[in-house]
Amino acid sequence: RPREELDAVDSVCPYCGVGCALTYYVDRERGAISFAEGRDQPGSQSRLCVKGRYGWDYSASPQRLTVPLIRVDSAYPKGPLSADVRGDGHGGTRNDRGRVNGGERSGGGRKPGDKRGGKRKPGGLVDYDEVMPHFREATWDEALDLVASRLGEIHALRGSEAIAGFGSAKCSNEEAYLFQKLIRTGFGTNNVDHCTRLCHASSVAALFEGVGSGAVSTTYGDVANADCVIITGSNPTANHPVASSFFKQARRRGTKVIYVDPRASTVAEHADIFVQLKPGTDVAFYNSVMHEVIRLGLIDRDFIANRTSNYDELARTVADYPPERAAQITGVDADTIREVARTWGEAGSAVVYWGMGISQHTTGTDNARCLIALCSITGNVGRPGTGLHPLRGQNNVQGASDAGLIPMFYPDYQGVDRDATQRRFEQAWGTPLNPNRGLTVTEIIGSVLKPDGVRGMYMLGENPFLSDPNINKVRKALSSLDFLVVQDIFLTETAEFADVILPATSYLEKDGTYTNTDRRVQLGRKVMDAPGQARPDWQIVQDIARRVGLDWDYGAPGEVFDEMVALMPSYRNLRYDNLGLSGKLYPNDDPEHSDGTIVMFDEKFNTDDGLAHLVPAQWLPPKELPDAEYPLVLNTGRLLEHWHTGSMTRRSFALDAISPVAEVYMHPKDAADRGLAHGEMVRARSRRGAIELQVRISHREQLGNCFIPFHFREAAANLLTIDEIDPYGKIPEFKFCAIQVEPL
Ligand code: SF4
Repeated sequence: RPREELDAVDSVCPYCGVGCALTYYVDRERGAISFAEGRDQPGSQSRLCVKGRYGWDYSASPQRLTVPLIRVDSAYPKGPLSADVRGDGHGGTRNDRGRVNGGERSGGGRKPGDKRGGKRKPGGLVDYDEVMPHFREATWDEALDLVASRLGEIHALRGSEAIAGFGSAKCSNEEAYLFQKLIRTGFGTNNVDHCTRLCHASSVAALFEGVGSGAVSTTYGDVANADCVIITGSNPTANHPVASSFFKQARRRGTKVIYVDPRASTVAEHADIFVQLKPGTDVAFYNSVMHEVIRLGLIDRDFIANRTSNYDELARTVADYPPERAAQITGVDADTIREVARTWGEAGSAVVYWGMGISQHTTGTDNARCLIALCSITGNVGRPGTGLHPLRGQNNVQGASDAGLIPMFYPDYQGVDRDATQRRFEQAWGTPLNPNRGLTVTEIIGSVLKPDGVRGMYMLGENPFLSDPNINKVRKALSSLDFLVVQDIFLTETAEFADVILPATSYLEKDGTYTNTDRRVQLGRKVMDAPGQARPDWQIVQDIARRVGLDWDYGAPGEVFDEMVALMPSYRNLRYDNLGLSGKLYPNDDPEHSDGTIVMFDEKFNTDDGLAHLVPAQWLPPKELPDAEYPLVLNTGRLLEHWHTGSMTRRSFALDAISPVAEVYMHPKDAADRGLAHGEMVRARSRRGAIELQVRISHREQLGNCFIPFHFREAAANLLTIDEIDPYGKIPEFKFCAIQVEPL
């Protein structure tokens, strides 16, 4: 139909933290989106990547959950654990005969028997035909009553700490806020967390300690004002594509780009200096850069004296990292380290953008501490074109964290263990609150395996059976719960194991606010009606709250937003109706006339003393090093076309068509040493499990290193990963474990 006959709905892309503004054009006669187009907004300037442009048809999938479901067969799959769940080294799940949209997958178009892909196991998504008979349809009242009574029983019998909730960064700010409020006020526990624990929890820990705020200090668009940037531990072309276009544009205008990463992603081709360091050596590298910056006198002495603390201890620590020593640890030659230090130190303004190659390590907090220190000692915080920017993953991971979906913080990072804060929230919410920090996502899994640990869980929009490390352990833990309720839009790998499944609306079927990586709060608007009886998450959470005795009466997301703003100083002055079409950056003292604050900390930091706290770190090796049996290092991450556990993007026709197959990316020599050809099926195995997938020969990998995306159920990368965590941020080591890859 011609554009003028279509209904235009302005919204925001539901995928990465860039949060591009877009318009969906809807054919109301067909009841379907016809196309999506980028919309002008300061952070995206009408640009979209392939996910924003084509990744919306998942919402019309015939596999949407449309009615509440209650388990009828307690023996499935909660009885004797199947071989794959026990973790005996066999990959996949018992449902690997997966179908996609009703059709059996073929072997990637290759002929049966062809070694190049012919042996590929059929893959895809949960097999509805196999799983559905173990559930029966229920009314909303029946399902919600059961959820409230079972969680209530566990709470009454085992106490508050036996309950936990995983919220979701895919949901709106209002939904995140209500979910944490329910867990804290309805069940008396702070055991509430979300996927920030798996992406930037270590960055937030370091930033909170260092500068008193877990959010970015400047926007990615501010790269235009920088003389130099370091992009590190990130593949923005795949993971933050539109932000990446800003970086590339800046370089064309003269900004020096230093790219530091173990993988030679396409950003390396746009960099002035590419540093391909060994994985897990970031602390040694950045300590050495600081060593050189100090030796060359390229530090900002006034900034250090007036705006930082603990410089002397930092200087003593980095003195132990001369480039020659760091070269041995990092594999980067000493002259390149010196060149990076000089380029950074001589820049008048410089920003560091980092991704999960920094954060997803057992040393993730130390890695981020080094970046904060490097910026601080060179005076590169608090001015245009300077600052600290962890590129947030999900479209609303910033907002969900701001809204309090974190076990140690109420909304706006206000500590649950601070008396005055607790009293303030008790007064606002009208109930006594638990003063103890709750368990994180990673700690909850361990707790479930203990006799006196968590026994009942409410899972909203998360899929830990694919997303968490060492998923055989996760599956064993969560399948032993006394009660698990999963609220989602599809029958996910986690929902398979639930006692009750609640059908929620997709992003396209509800209103709400979302906060992007830049601190931009934007409105997502309802594009179409939900299928069947699916309902918005905030309404479902409210119905459960009422059933456990809470006196909630929110009529619309805007009412929830008003309550949030009243409790969140950073969101002051924002209202649902003053966000406009482009959203607003927070903090914002005049949202009627201003886009908000781009550069934070121009006068002081948010720490108690107003100073940046420099925290030195010593390099520590990763927990599981390669050896003769497992000689390769595994790095996991995302592809441009897919999103996390694939529940949405693998049901988007175009995205699945472009990227349908799980692959292990290998250096040509590593493949040749094993006699492997491009496209051949192989087995990748670690001490925790094994998967079968195709080989992709990749010149972007270092010798001895492999990369496997974690989107693919039929070759779940997290069957291989290790569940060691960072001691501060409690984030898992997704970027380093030892594996072997061998022919089938
Ligand atoms: Fe969506 Fe991120 Fe792509 Fe923008 S860059 S269209 S927010 S996935």
